[in-house]
Amino acid sequence: MKAIVVGGGIGGLAAAVSLRRVGWEVQVLERAAAFGEVGAGIGVMPNAVRALEWMGVADEARRLGTPRVSGGIKSSDGRWLAHLPAVGQEKIIAMHRADLHGVLLRALPPEILFNNVEVTSVEELDADLVVAADGINSRLRAELLPDAPGPVYAGATAWRGVAPGPFDLPISQTLGPGGEAGLLPLGDGRLCWYVSTVAPAGASLDPAQVFADWHEPFPELLATTPEILRHDIYELPLLPTFISGRVALLGDAAHAMVPYMGQGACMALEDAVTLASVDGDLVRYDALRRPRAQTLWKASKLAGKFGIEVRSPVALAVRNSVYRMLPGSVAVRGMTRFSSWEVPAMPR
Ligand SMILES: Cc1cc2nc3c(=O)[nH]c(=O)nc-3n(C[C@H](O)[C@H](O)[C@H](O)COP(=O)(O)OP(=O)(O)OC[C@H]3O[C@@H](n4cnc5c(N)ncnc54)[C@H](O)[C@@H]3O)c2cc1C
Repeated sequence: MKAIVVGGGIGGLAAAVSLRRVGWEVQVLERAAAFGEVGAGIGVMPNAVRALEWMGVADEARRLGTPRVSGGIKSSDGRWLAHLPAVGQEKIIAMHRADLHGVLLRALPPEILFNNVEVTSVEELDADLVVAADGINSRLRAELLPDAPGPVYAGATAWRGVAPGPFDLPISQTLGPGGEAGLLPLGDGRLCWYVSTVAPAGASLDPAQVFADWHEPFPELLATTPEILRHDIYELPLLPTFISGRVALLGDAAHAMVPYMGQGACMALEDAVTLASVDGDLVRYDALRRPRAQTLWKASKLAGKFGIEVRSPVALAVRNSVYRMLPGSVAVRGMTRFSSWEVPAMPR
């Protein structure tokens, strides 16, 4: 059985690795001139670590990731609101996105990877299974589900970078007026960071000004990080299905969500191993993946309402004191409650 995967991002490569493990012949078609990932850090949550384990690449991911994950949630003045219990890499792997992408890429033979191939229609593809992993602006989705609405602006913009360091800081998420920020230290001393703020689409903003009053190291990082990326945040309204004929939508093509739960790419990893588990039964893939991914989509949106979207001083004070009163494990439950997912049983 032959599968063609359209898109060589984290989702597409994970699908290729997973399908090959259960015996599919796979090709990956990527429109860019090279396979790669930009961006900053990613926390591979325990649910997605299980997916990497099943793919056989978790050990290499652990080798490249941060060995021990501890930290918590802060307010923008730098005070701790909640502490994450320290866990090791067996639970969460904090790593650079490019490293995660590289781990998946190295698990695939180069002869199945094709660059400079922009797929414009499923009709072009001769395969038993087509995996549409072509991202939030998926051409294949637009072709197959023409009535489904496309991505919409989610009301916030983000800047991300990787500072060379060396830094020795815990992992943290910071919540402030109309914004949030985060630090993900890598094992080699580099520091992945992001800041995001509510803003109209395409607003011309200087992040150094927006975050000037936030605790260090954010002002320093914004002033000194060599390359800073900006992304306006879009989300994909919920789809009625993740499948059409022999095509399975996967990753952001199926369920692009706001990043406030840090689970978007983790969902793509879950999609990939689930697709391999259903033995070509796409109805089962849809039944297993759509409720799960759309629950995360809704939870991420809700996290934004209690996070980045809180602006008034009164609401901020209430939220911060609620965080301080809660036991740490409850305060970070928003981040951990989706972690118990298990890889579905595989075909015999
Ligand atoms: C600011 C921000 C922070 C985030 N933080 C996190 C986080 O901490 N944790 C987490 O889990 N997730 C996070 N996410 C979400 C995560 O980035 C995405 O969910 C994930 O990268 C989606 O991967 P994908 O492979 O589905 O899509 P993409 O990464 O978009 O890959 C799609 C690929 O398809 C290719 N392509 C597109 N069209 C075609 C075509 N027609 N033909 C051939 N190839 C094509 C593209 O070139 C690209 O390589 C964040 C997202 C944002 C915006």
